[in-house]
Amino acid sequence: MKIGFIGLGHMGNPMARNLLKHGHALKIYDVIPDLVKKLAAEGGEVATSAADCAKGVEVVITMLPSSPHVRSAYLGDYGVLKGASPGTPLIDSSTIDPLTAREVAMDAKAKGCAMVDAPVSGGVAGAEAGTLTFMVGGEARDFEAAKAVLLAMGKNIVHCGGIGNGQVAKICNNMMLAIEMIATSEGMTLAAKLGMDPKVFAAIVNTSSGRCWSSDTYNPYPGVLESAPASRSYAGGFGSDLMLKDLTLATDAAKNAKQPVMLGALAQQIYQKHSVDGNGAKDFSSVIMQYMKT
Ligand code: NAD
Repeated sequence: MKIGFIGLGHMGNPMARNLLKHGHALKIYDVIPDLVKKLAAEGGEVATSAADCAKGVEVVITMLPSSPHVRSAYLGDYGVLKGASPGTPLIDSSTIDPLTAREVAMDAKAKGCAMVDAPVSGGVAGAEAGTLTFMVGGEARDFEAAKAVLLAMGKNIVHCGGIGNGQVAKICNNMMLAIEMIATSEGMTLAAKLGMDPKVFAAIVNTSSGRCWSSDTYNPYPGVLESAPASRSYAGGFGSDLMLKDLTLATDAAKNAKQPVMLGALAQQIYQKHSVDGNGAKDFSSVIMQYMKT
């Protein structure tokens, strides 16, 4: 297929490269010309704007930082909807708020283009390996059309329901993960302060009712799990600022929906403090540092 790909950053670049590897032809665009040049050397055709990138292609994929970028890339004067022919499927894989996903999809529909939201989990490593999970919101037939393309970049392609529901799945899952990581940090540091060996305590938790992914696979206490970012000074992994972004999306969505998220709101504030303290680039399990300083 001929695919327009917009947003060639940490995630977009390896995702686009996997499309090339699968034999698709790419038209590429990013507001940073050097990123376009780099990928063009591997086979992408350079577009001069998002509108140009959407012209003459069979599907458009976007991977952009946040909601305002998605609005401008689709709805701006030189945006996707100015260039795409009616009937061109549009896939937005950025993590944004569900409301924006639904509003942009309405405008796309008015132009005759079906849109799905398809945020991912799996991070840069998953993007490079082509093993991302895509959480897709949209009509069933649009999901099926998108799935055929997404399989070149991911392993699990899940239909979450109507447009915006991919974002709902992504931000609610990450809100639970953040709360769970903070709870694990609190329990681990209290046990250590009260005199227990963290490794022994983690082994007990992991065969008891306190067990969770943050305790048994990604334990935040240094030295408990050799494979976890905690054992390499929290380098790599999923950045605290990205977790803060997802928590802010979740708490904003909760505010709009008038749905209480007491622990989610507290988690958002804890990650905000962690980021202000200069830890935004560290893996999100470094939030345990908020407890180790005292
Ligand atoms: P990034 O900032 O590295 O890349 C985004 C790219 O979009 C940049 O190159 C930027 O120049 C480009 N861009 C911005 N506005 C544009 C516009 N109007 N037109 C064209 N290009 C434009 O971000 P990333 O790490 O690749 O993340 C992309 C999305 O994926 C985000 O929504 C993020 O929350 C989500 N995500 C990231 C990760 C991760 O580990 N990095 C994991 C899961 C989900």
